[in-house]
Amino acid sequence: MSDDRAAKILQILKHNLALPLWIKANHEPFETLVMTIISQNTTDQNTIKAYKKLSKVSQITSKALAETSIDTIENAIKSAGLYKTKAQAIKQAAQTILERYNGALQPVLSLPIDQARDTLMQIKGIGPKTADVVLLFSAKQPTIPVDTHVNRVSKRLGFVPAKADYETVRKNLQLLFNTKDYLVVHLLLIAHGRKICKALNPLCDRCVVNMYCPTKGDSVKL
Ligand code: SF4
Repeated sequence: MSDDRAAKILQILKHNLALPLWIKANHEPFETLVMTIISQNTTDQNTIKAYKKLSKVSQITSKALAETSIDTIENAIKSAGLYKTKAQAIKQAAQTILERYNGALQPVLSLPIDQARDTLMQIKGIGPKTADVVLLFSAKQPTIPVDTHVNRVSKRLGFVPAKADYETVRKNLQLLFNTKDYLVVHLLLIAHGRKICKALNPLCDRCVVNMYCPTKGDSVKL
C-alpha cells in the first residue's frame, strides 16, 4: 500500500478520535511494564482498577513487588482477569529486574533499540508487545507495539498482509509512518478497533476511513 494512503487514513483518524487522557501520565518504566502486563485481554477500566488496587498493597517497584507474596498480587489484580498468569509474570519480572539490573530498567532502555528489545524479552513474563510498550511509552524509542486491535485494523486496512506475524506487522507499520507518529498510530489504531473496527461486527457503514479500506469487514474474524 502507498505511504500516501496511510498518511490520509492517519490524518482522518487523528481528526475523529480522541487520545486517552492517561497518555499524558509520565510513568516510570517499571510501572509501565506492570500496567502492560495487567492490561492484556482486558479493558482500560479494569486495568486501571487492578493497578490502583495493586498500588495500595505494594509500591510499584521491582524491589517491593519481588517481596510481595503471589497471593497478594493475585488478589489485587483479580478484576483484570487471567490474574494468576499475570501475577506470576509481574513477580518474575520484578525478581529478574532486581537481580539482573539492580532494580533499574533505565540502562536497558537506553541501549540501541534492537539490543534493548532483546534484553527486555530475556526477562520472563515480557514478550514482544510488552517490550515495545515499555520502549515506546517510557523510553520514547521508535517502535510500534502490536496488540490485538492494531493487528486486526492494520490487516483490514491493508497496511500489512493478512497472515503477517507480530514482527512483520510492526516493521511494515514502521515503514509506512513517520517515527514521530508511532505513538499516535499505536493509540489511534487501538481506539478505532475498539470503537468501530470491532473484531466480530465491524461498523463499516460508520467508519470514517471506509473509502480507503480494501476489505470493508470481509475479513471479520481477523
Ligand atoms: S471499513 Fe470496516 S473493516 Fe475497514 S477499517 Fe472501517 S470498520 Fe474496519
